[in-house]
Amino acid sequence: MKSKILSALRNAQDYVSGQELCESLGVSRTAVWKGVKKLKEEGYNIEAVPNKGYRLMESLDVLNARELENFRQTSWIGETTVYYEVTDSTNIQAKRLAEEGAAHGTLVVAGCQEAGKGRRGRFWESPEKDGIFMTLLLRPDFKPEKASMLTIVAALSVAKAIQTILELPAKIKWPNDIILNEKKICGILTEMNTEIETINYVVVGIGINVSNQKFEGDAALIATSIALESDKKIHRAKLIDAVWQQFEIYYEKLCKKGDLSGLKEEYDSFLVNKDRQVRILDPKEPFEGVARGISETGELLVETNAGVRAVSSGEVSVRGIYGYV
Ligand code: ATP
Repeated sequence: MKSKILSALRNAQDYVSGQELCESLGVSRTAVWKGVKKLKEEGYNIEAVPNKGYRLMESLDVLNARELENFRQTSWIGETTVYYEVTDSTNIQAKRLAEEGAAHGTLVVAGCQEAGKGRRGRFWESPEKDGIFMTLLLRPDFKPEKASMLTIVAALSVAKAIQTILELPAKIKWPNDIILNEKKICGILTEMNTEIETINYVVVGIGINVSNQKFEGDAALIATSIALESDKKIHRAKLIDAVWQQFEIYYEKLCKKGDLSGLKEEYDSFLVNKDRQVRILDPKEPFEGVARGISETGELLVETNAGVRAVSSGEVSVRGIYGYV
């Protein structure tokens, strides 16, 4: 009932009389009144004016299973969506669901994480209501060595979604970070479970800083949020849907070609380090060069005095010469 009232108000974008709601939803006036009351308690700003009816004012950024369903316009991602107000980490939950047989396209979303992780086990700050924490479960039909391309696809999807719906100049720091004004607003963590030649499942975890006002520890130096960089109003469920709509488009291109040849040019146009001097923090042998873009399989192409080197993600980190980017 609450969902139906909410979508009726959203679609109308103006007053809808109690009578109209009763008729279109086939329920009593009291049922409508109770539904509206509950929605208000959940944080929706609904105005009730005598002789006019109800109107949904600018809604707060409420995130819950219903909002995710309301905004969902993807075709296969999120057909099954699992929402947690609080969880340890959406990657952990997605892996658990995968082990229990969950389908390709299952999406896990959380309101906050108590054990969010970055690469190499590093902590990911995931405070309540401040961010987007979500993981997509995939069962791709390709070899394990191709899985790292999914991080590239995810990064491109986030950058493109932020650019499209928020009109902010999001960039990508290869391979897995999204940057706004030279600071990090999003990290991506891809993990997989494989047999020798096949992938059992991959989970692609995405954390986006939406309304954080400050960061702790080493993140304080490199992190920012959409709210700190702009005055854009954000509805997390809408941004989540925008990211996965993009992902569906890019994922199809990846599967069709079997590599990133259909995406490379667009990815390179988002690359924050493109044609800039970078330092490659390779544990075996760090080196410097100029980042020129990615290869068709997702390596970073770095021009050095000794020629172009293709760097694969794995254990490597990329930094600017003077700082994080
Ligand atoms: P590298 O380039 O070495 O992989 P990274 O920046 O990609 O580094 P990740 O593994 O993606 O690192 O993320 C973990 C790091 O991100 C943490 O060590 C911390 O410095 C930083 N961090 C933690 N929480 C956040 C957050 N909410 N937003 C931005 N950065 C964060």
